[in-house]
Amino acid sequence: MKTMNCNQLGGACGKEIYSNTVEEVSALRKQHGIEMHQNQLKSELLQLSRYKTECRS
Ligand SMILES: [Zn+2]
Repeated sequence: MKTMNCNQLGGACGKEIYSNTVEEVSALRKQHGIEMHQNQLKSELLQLSRYKTECRS
């Protein structure tokens, strides 16, 4: 049984990911990133674009 958390795998949170194989951990990490961090990334990009718009006006 392998236990890695999102941080250890280069992610932005401490969610623990368990699996029997390293391959499966990395697959689950990828899935978790798609589900959990894509929204986060989008909102960061949205904030950034708002900030740029405010600077221009
Ligand atoms: Zn995470």
